[in-house]
Amino acid sequence: MQSPGISMTLRPFTVVWDPRFRDYDFGPGHPFDEASRESAVRLFESSLTPEEQATVGWQRSIEPAPAPTLLTFHEEGYLSFVRAASGSSRVTILDSPDTPLFPGCFPASARIVAGTEWAVRHVIDRAGVVFAPAGGLHHAAPGRASGFCIFNDVAIGIAAALEARQRVAYVDIDVHHGDGVMYGFYRHGRVLDVDFHQDGRTLFPGTGRVTEVGEGDGAGLKVNIPLPPGAGDEALVPLARRILPSLTEEFRPDVWVIQHGLDGHWGDPLAQLQYTPHGYAEVDRLLLDLSARWGGRVVVTGGGGYLARSVSRVLARVGRQFGGLETISDDAVLPEAWRVAFEDAFGSPAPVQWVDPPELYESPWSRAREEHLVRELENALGRRFPAP
Ligand SMILES: [Zn+2]
Repeated sequence: MQSPGISMTLRPFTVVWDPRFRDYDFGPGHPFDEASRESAVRLFESSLTPEEQATVGWQRSIEPAPAPTLLTFHEEGYLSFVRAASGSSRVTILDSPDTPLFPGCFPASARIVAGTEWAVRHVIDRAGVVFAPAGGLHHAAPGRASGFCIFNDVAIGIAAALEARQRVAYVDIDVHHGDGVMYGFYRHGRVLDVDFHQDGRTLFPGTGRVTEVGEGDGAGLKVNIPLPPGAGDEALVPLARRILPSLTEEFRPDVWVIQHGLDGHWGDPLAQLQYTPHGYAEVDRLLLDLSARWGGRVVVTGGGGYLARSVSRVLARVGRQFGGLETISDDAVLPEAWRVAFEDAFGSPAPVQWVDPPELYESPWSRAREEHLVRELENALGRRFPAP
């Protein structure tokens, strides 16, 4: 065991996981499913000591969100379309072959929405941190599915916080730009949206340019940090430390909604960034520190991630860190029962230890590129981000 992940007073911590979240399943061969997130929850749970178990609350039963909740972000016509497709016995493809509508997709998607919405309402009522790894479906737009996302649970969670008169900091570290959330609140002055992602010129969905800064009341509150393929911790961590503190100190959020996609992890098959578990841990430490100063209320959703051996282990570590639990050393051996279940679920050899040595190729990132990107951000946002 190493030093504790965070040094502050322990905040109440709850995990939201209903086994029926697994119903959100596009079928064999599709890259997205909830299996690796479930594997992460199992690993998180099996890593808890008896003393730690007493500090973790669980919400294990979530009913699908009703239509009025879905309508806080989505359009009525789109709900009707998804409902009809959900009741069909066949897979329906409209304009988004990445995101087919499958039998039962309406309740499956609405249950994930309800998990994230429950998490947001819980932290507003009781403070603390909720880990909701099934959520993070940040691409869905009001009137259409996109990028494996049918309903946008994070946007609906943010809408619930706004209805409760909260100011929301949305931080998205998924490798893909969170377009559904950003455009959904583009003119909104009570949503600060900070999105680190692989440059849209090289990756779906193509959006998230530095110059997209919001409009109207939202002007200056939408912050996009695009990174070139090959960039990793050496880009993410210093930029997060440079940009997040002054933005959040000025904005003073009441609630934090984090989209903690793990598809920026090195080796992910759908993208080309090279974050490591240590880079994620540094950013998470920063988010914990900042959220303790501003608001104290945090919801951490899962998001993307397409390499089960990375997602399961890193997301379990993310849960431990946000739960204020000790960091398990990299070379600690994973529980045997969990490894057997992993091999059953994924049909591939399970990892042996918590963190593998990273296999990285040369990064194109440099201090000069950081300064260049910061200048672009400063020009677009009309503010300064001095080097710490
Ligand atoms: Zn993603």
